[in-house]
Amino acid sequence: MIPDSFIQSLLERVDVADVVGRYVQLRKAGANLLGLCPFHNEKSPSFTVSPTKQFYHCFGCGAHGTSIRFVMEHTGASFPEAVRQLADSVGMSVPEEPRGPGGRAAREEQSRRREEVSRHTQVLDTANDHYRRALRTARGAIEYLKGRGLTGQIAAQYGLGWAAADRHGLSAVFPDYDKPEFSALLVESGLVIQSDDGRRYDRFRDRVMFPIRNARGHLVGFGGRVIGKGEPKYLNSPETPVFSKGTELYGLWEARQAIRAASQVIVVEGYMDVVALAQMGVGNAVATLGTATTAQHVQKLLRVTDNIVFSFDGDGAGRRAAWRALQACLPLLRDDITIRFLFLPDGHDPDSFIRAQGEDAFRQSAREASSLSRFMLDEWAAQHDLAQPEGRARCIHDAQPLMQAMPAGGLRLQVVRELATLVRLTPDEIAPLLALQDQPTGPLVNSGRRQPVAAAAGAAPAAAAPASGPSARGPATDRAPADWTPADDGPPPGFDEAGFVPDDGGHGGYHDGPPPGYQEGYGGGQGGGGGRRQGGYRQGGGGGARGGKSDRWQGKGKGRFRDRDWDDERDPPGSRRPVPTLPQRLVRLLIAHPQLVAHIDAQAQAHLEHAGDFALVLALIRIVRDSGASHTGAVLQAAGDAEHDLNLAAADTLLVDELPDPDAELRDTLRSIAISRLRAEQADLARRAGDAAAYARYAECEREIGRLRTAAADDAAAAQ
Ligand SMILES: [Zn+2]
Repeated sequence: MIPDSFIQSLLERVDVADVVGRYVQLRKAGANLLGLCPFHNEKSPSFTVSPTKQFYHCFGCGAHGTSIRFVMEHTGASFPEAVRQLADSVGMSVPEEPRGPGGRAAREEQSRRREEVSRHTQVLDTANDHYRRALRTARGAIEYLKGRGLTGQIAAQYGLGWAAADRHGLSAVFPDYDKPEFSALLVESGLVIQSDDGRRYDRFRDRVMFPIRNARGHLVGFGGRVIGKGEPKYLNSPETPVFSKGTELYGLWEARQAIRAASQVIVVEGYMDVVALAQMGVGNAVATLGTATTAQHVQKLLRVTDNIVFSFDGDGAGRRAAWRALQACLPLLRDDITIRFLFLPDGHDPDSFIRAQGEDAFRQSAREASSLSRFMLDEWAAQHDLAQPEGRARCIHDAQPLMQAMPAGGLRLQVVRELATLVRLTPDEIAPLLALQDQPTGPLVNSGRRQPVAAAAGAAPAAAAPASGPSARGPATDRAPADWTPADDGPPPGFDEAGFVPDDGGHGGYHDGPPPGYQEGYGGGQGGGGGRRQGGYRQGGGGGARGGKSDRWQGKGKGRFRDRDWDDERDPPGSRRPVPTLPQRLVRLLIAHPQLVAHIDAQAQAHLEHAGDFALVLALIRIVRDSGASHTGAVLQAAGDAEHDLNLAAADTLLVDELPDPDAELRDTLRSIAISRLRAEQADLARRAGDAAAYARYAECEREIGRLRTAAADDAAAAQ
């Protein structure tokens, strides 16, 4: 048996986007990633992966689960095999109860290794705390950062620290610095260097420290920058079991919200540039870590945005670095992504440029930066003597491997034409010379794709529910919670842009009925006897989906989903998807943000227990508390397949936008529940006319409702 606690920490460490991304080409679609389902045959992608919620769901065939489930289903591995494989990939060892003779020794070995892994993370965190504390009193470093225009706020946001000049500075926080076994760990973690004669000393000295976090926010290494003349100017952690320069990007975690807000990421060369840009209002920048841009970097970036701007110095070294980045991008190009190359004027880096010219000028330059194809064609033109036949032939020769690296599609076709013009040939003449694969389209170039305009318009995250207080809308239980109501017109976000046009019936999902959860609410009740893998969602009423429990989740007859809504390309005006009930709202909220369970206090819990409709909510709360699950995937893993309603609720959260303020939504929902309970109590009391105690209690309920409404109004005001 593998302990559940280990499964939970494993799911904390692995990233479902990485796990699935090894087998399925994924691209960004709203907050999710989208690809062709590996479990059923389809032409338009319905396979959705949520990097924040850490699970995948196929709206075509219903395949669904966490990283562990994916490995099992995709590779045929058993549960322990899948767990072991994933654990290996993140440097964890599985604590299993070994059988047979020698078991004890093996157990001890495993326990030792497990401890080592956890100590590994601990030493990085301890060192980070030490560096951050040291910065507070490091006058020189503070002067330097101030001189670069940084405020303490930005320094704190990026967790900057200071490594003093002391060769054994870390011994202050690691008392066992010199003990062989522990120092081996410090050396392995990259914090300490051991010289040939066996002496040990801190790797980072006299440097401003930049903690490097992975895409999930875990500390994996450091970058250090000298503030004076020393060499090297930038120093990174070496490759360690938790850190690899070729895949990590500095600032990706810190910039994630700004990247989403700007729908763009700017890739620069140094950590200082990232922080300086953030200081000047450009928070969506990340940096490579002293290496050339790799395909893994680009892949990682394309998971968070479809618009990348590489910013390099305008000198020869900058152009060479840009060319390498271009080569990393080529195989990943699609017609719906934008990649640009910004070359700053001579002598400028992003930091100096934005300080000299300001935020607007920098953003303007980013907008006007060369497109990838322009940069490529310009470089070809610059590197060859196109006035001579030999130069033009050589140009084609040099272009060939790059063109071959590009996936087929509209962009490649365009570049072929431009290249042909450049070398004075026709496209027909140049085609055989380039010997491009004659596939009509690459796997993800979707010919039936519609414009993502409707999706963008349909997403209304700013229309937060508390903005207009409950009192403005009549009884709290009847009002439509703006956040969780799917867009009134057009498909839900992410679907339109994903090319979810039911073109050929190949994935079948939307010809005959709405996606799960819409027509039936959460009524998948009995699960249709394995139907979820055999298109159980295709026929509106099939697979037992109209089964017993469905009433619980119906939208009380209001705006119930009609079949024909999904037959049309767009919903007819005025049609509405069901308004979620309070239990439904709460399930969706808590399954998307399990950490909010901690905010449900005893009083709120009592309301839920007494209200009667909240059985699934209470089950969910119990699962989260028992397992300590920190994201949706982890909850689903802990819940197991039996909790079919939770699986459906999780899938449903993929269809709506991320909430801007989940805490506020929780407070609002709990208040609505409290108010509706108080109203019900008042209705009872009203029958006891003439009873003084009943009257007193009625008035007390009224005051309590008033307090709740005031709190709601305060929240709404704070949200403005
Ligand atoms: Zn599928």
